[in-house]
Order: sequence, then C-alpha cells, then structure tokens
Amino acid sequence: MIKLQNISKYYHTSNSVASGLQKVNLEFSMGEFVVVTGQSGSGKSTLLNVISGLDSYEEGEMYLFGEETSHYLIDDWEKYRASNIGYISQNYNIINSFTVLQNVLVALELQNYPKENRKKRALELIEMVGISHRTHHKAGKLSGGEKQRTVIARALAKDAPIIVCDEPTGNLDTQSSNAIIALIEKLGKNKLIILVTHNYEEVEHIATRRIRLRDGEIIEDQKIVKQEAVNQVQKVDPEKQTIKGKPSWYTLLHFAFRSLFATPKRLFFMLTLQTIITGIFILIYAYLMFSSDLLVGELAGDNDSSHRVEVVKR
Ligand code: ADP
Ligand code: MG
Repeated sequence: MIKLQNISKYYHTSNSVASGLQKVNLEFSMGEFVVVTGQSGSGKSTLLNVISGLDSYEEGEMYLFGEETSHYLIDDWEKYRASNIGYISQNYNIINSFTVLQNVLVALELQNYPKENRKKRALELIEMVGISHRTHHKAGKLSGGEKQRTVIARALAKDAPIIVCDEPTGNLDTQSSNAIIALIEKLGKNKLIILVTHNYEEVEHIATRRIRLRDGEIIEDQKIVKQEAVNQVQKVDPEKQTIKGKPSWYTLLHFAFRSLFATPKRLFFMLTLQTIITGIFILIYAYLMFSSDLLVGELAGDNDSSHRVEVVKR
C-alpha cells in the first residue's frame, strides 16, 4: 500500500547539503508492525515524515495505494494525511490548555465526525486508552504517560489505517513505556504501524519487521516472524477522503475562541496589558497635541511678517 522507489531527500542549508534519505527502496503492507532503528541523525524521522506526507522528497517516486505522488500538491498531501495517517510523537502534540476530552473532541471535529455522536465517541476513546479518570483534567497537568495516551486517543479518533510513531516512549519511564507499547499494539491491529525507537528491546516481541538506517541508507530490512494473514484488512473508503479535507471556517473560528477562553487568567492579563499600553499611547499623543498648540500660540503672537507662519487649526 506504500511503496518507496529510490527515494532521496536532501536538506539544503546556507552552505551545505545534508542528506536525509538516500535511494531508499521499501514497501509496506497492512498488518505489518515495522520497527525502524538507527543512530541519531540516521534519517528515521525523515523517513516517517516522507511517508506521512509531512516532508517532500527530491528523487525517486512514492506510491500510495498504487498511485504516484510526485505530482501531489499541498492539498493532496493534506487530504492523504487527514484520511490515512495517525501520528504519534514524543512531543505530545496536544493542546495543553484543553482538557483531555476537548483534545479528543477537536480531533473528531476535524474529521467532521457527526456532531450528535462526538462526545460519546470521545468518551469511548478515552476509556479505550485507560484515562477515563482524567477526562476533565487539563492536558498540561497530566503525567507523560497520560499525555501520550491522550495523543493515542486522538490518533485513534481518526481511525487511520496507517499509524506512524516517532519515538513514542522517548520521554517515558520503563513502566509507562511498556504500557504505551502494549496499547499501540492492541489498537493497531490490522493497521500498518511504523514505529521509530532507540530501544528495540521494548518492541521486539511484537515487531514483524525491522529496518535499520545509517546515514540515510537502509542497512537492514528483515521480516521477523511470518506475518499472519490479515483477515480483516482495513480498506480505505474513498468517500471518507472527500469528506475529510480542510476544516471549515466555522470549525477554525470555533477553535480560536475556545482556545482563547481556555486560559481565562492569561486572557484577562493580556487584555489589561493591552488597555494600559493603549492608554499610554493616547496620553502621549494628547500631550504632544497640547504642547504643539502652545507652540502655535507663541508663533502666532510674533508679528514679524518675514517669518510669519500660517497655522490652520485642526
Ligand atoms: P533521526 O530521526 O534518525 O535522528 P533525522 O531524520 O531527524 O534523523 O535527520 C537525518 C539527517 O537530516 C540528519 O543529518 C539531520 O541533521 C538532517 N536534517 C533533518 N531535518 C533537517 C532540517 N529540517 N534541516 C536540515 N537538516 C535536517
Ligand atoms: Mg528523529
């Protein structure tokens, strides 16, 4: 379902060119649990970003469901990501000022999930990842493991067939790491999972394939266990791709207001600060106007016609 053919990716900086990937050939199918390892800087994140359509590639061709992608425009990539990719990283890409529930609701809203069932589905997902007791807590106040569970609940809200994880346990202690890996395994059944880790041992028991990278090149690509036949391979519904696209203006405006009022103290502080700054500017302006009036008065009193200044009062 994803095929990379001679893919190369370069990063151009002002005086050098770094190579992210070099002539990578890979093919992934549903039901695989692919673990990608390699030293820091070997191109693991670049590979995930190219597969998720977050990063472009310069050479080669990537096929998604048999379709070439070298002609894809930003809109095509956005549609592809919205329908197909669940992204879990170690940076907990969640909104800290929102509650767990609000974070999951946002993901459902972006999917245009039917409004009347949204809350029910969000609560189900939160239950699935085992943090029901934190439903109404602000995400910023959760532990690392709980944050990561929220991220997973959000990724699941998408019900994407491909789950991409970039060092999902990078910031977690061993116990939380094991719990998160078990969760990814359980929830990722019948999907394609591509997971980057620096700790291969923690996923060894569930990996079906191991890929090792060095300096942007594949140095090992090994199938570990004979992959079980996937009975219920999840198919991508082409209709889904059309309903999921860019969020509507209403949705965006809704988020903007919601995030504004999610932190009332900050909002009050910003408004006060803005009022004070505006007040100071008005006072300075009024003072300057007043003093220029005085100056005009003095000049007007001077009757020397050679230096006469005509003043029109505003
Ligand atoms: P990994 O995830 O394995 O640590 P990356 O994929 O992040 O590695 O990086 C691979 C190579 O590409 C590194 O040499 C890195 O310096 C370079 N690189 C990655 N991202 C950028 C970027 N945005 N700008 C310039 N170079 C980059
Ligand atoms: Mg990385």
